[in-house]
Amino acid sequence: MRTLPSTDWETSLVDGPHTIVVGAGIVGVSTAYYLSRRGRRVTVIEMGDIGNGASSGNAGIVALGHPPIPRPGLIRQVLGWMLNGSSPVYIRPRFDLALFRWMWDLKRACTEEHFCSSMELLTTLGRHTQSCFEQIFSDEQMSCEYHRTGWLEVYRTEKGLAQGRRDAELLERYGFEIQVLDGDEVIRREPAFKDTVVGAVHSVESAFVDPMKFLVELAERARGHGASIRTNTQILDVLTSDGGVVGVRLDTGERLEAESVVLAGGIWTTGLARKLGIHVPMQAGKGYHRDITRPSPCVGIACVLAEDHVAVTPLDDVLRLSGTVEFSGLNHRMVPRRLDMLTAAARHYLDGLALTQPVSEWCGLRPCTADGLPVVGWAPAPRGLFVATGHARMGLTLGPVTGKLVSECILDGRPSIDITPLRVDRFRSRRHPSRPV
Ligand SMILES: Cc1cc2nc3c(=O)[nH]c(=O)nc-3n(C[C@H](O)[C@H](O)[C@H](O)COP(=O)(O)OP(=O)(O)OC[C@H]3O[C@@H](n4cnc5c(N)ncnc54)[C@H](O)[C@@H]3O)c2cc1C
Repeated sequence: MRTLPSTDWETSLVDGPHTIVVGAGIVGVSTAYYLSRRGRRVTVIEMGDIGNGASSGNAGIVALGHPPIPRPGLIRQVLGWMLNGSSPVYIRPRFDLALFRWMWDLKRACTEEHFCSSMELLTTLGRHTQSCFEQIFSDEQMSCEYHRTGWLEVYRTEKGLAQGRRDAELLERYGFEIQVLDGDEVIRREPAFKDTVVGAVHSVESAFVDPMKFLVELAERARGHGASIRTNTQILDVLTSDGGVVGVRLDTGERLEAESVVLAGGIWTTGLARKLGIHVPMQAGKGYHRDITRPSPCVGIACVLAEDHVAVTPLDDVLRLSGTVEFSGLNHRMVPRRLDMLTAAARHYLDGLALTQPVSEWCGLRPCTADGLPVVGWAPAPRGLFVATGHARMGLTLGPVTGKLVSECILDGRPSIDITPLRVDRFRSRRHPSRPV
């Protein structure tokens, strides 16, 4: 391979086709892991540190069968939330054409038909990602723990539990193992819960991990298989020639040569793709976490406090409270009131929080498509450009299977499962620039 003039970087000297991956989030790192395991020369370029984006501070739940955002009845629910300042969803009022279009497309995707076809595909992806996690944890001797405990959706109202039972039936229809627990059983299993809890739905086959530890360790394993991961370096442009990708231009002024480039830059993918004339419309769904010192007693399983939409995850040293979806643009401004809502919600369900202290606070941007499905596929042009993003609330869960599918598309010419509905050009239409499938 020819070394470009301004580059004296080690990987340019190694032979064989080269793939550059934009972003060391869970999607980019998983892609590098699966490509490098199969001997592909791969370089990840990350503008910050590993986990600079949404993948480091999320709730850590590997949630098989997690439904997509658009579902029948969502718009009525969102309108109700918008009138309530302390609701889990917040849309900052502003004139933003891209946001209006995105919301219009979201509304159009809230049909029963789209929900069912999405659930079928997400179920298949969930089953495959479960195998990916199992394979990674058996092959790679990871030191971070993969807790195969499942997760609990916990209810404090009878109305909420009734909805939980309906959700449980839905997941069972898609073949997932679900248990509905009454309040006494919840407290018997998890004494940290208050006796006001009326029940829970246990997704038995799911799991949870410390997302940052998992990401960093997976990146190390990818390096072990030969991948290069370069941090604190931004990709400014993807370079093309004769209709095909030839490399990237970095903020250091360097140009790196590659036969293929994978855009796995989370929410920032929209902007990078736009420079190449590719339409990947997404909105940033900002979510927060507040880590607190572990209370006593502490839950031993990841939970979602259903009525308040807050996740509670027991990590090694802290209890992570996370949640809220805020559509307020591409920024990391944290609203203290929304962080306080996490603690207030946890107090409704859990005992022992009075003596805890906040340890850290964080926010991250979920890359959200309007049709609720990730974007995984070759761009229509230029040749050699792959897009892997849009995982919204499911990126940790679906990151490994996405990485595996990207590697299959690049190395085998086709993925092992049909991912046509995730294709990039589903957003192209003259009349509706971001038409959902
Ligand atoms: C509060 C919260 C809780 C969540 N809980 C869960 C959960 O329990 N389970 C679950 O499955 N999902 C969860 N998610 C969603 C999950 O975190 C995301 O879907 C996932 O992290 C997206 O991963 P990604 O790799 O696509 O993007 P990111 O993690 O955002 O990574 C993209 C990376 O690309 C880099 N980058 C972008 N552009 C460039 C460039 N030009 N040059 C170089 N680098 C670039 C960025 O710096 C960033 O590091 C949660 C999200 C939030 C916010």
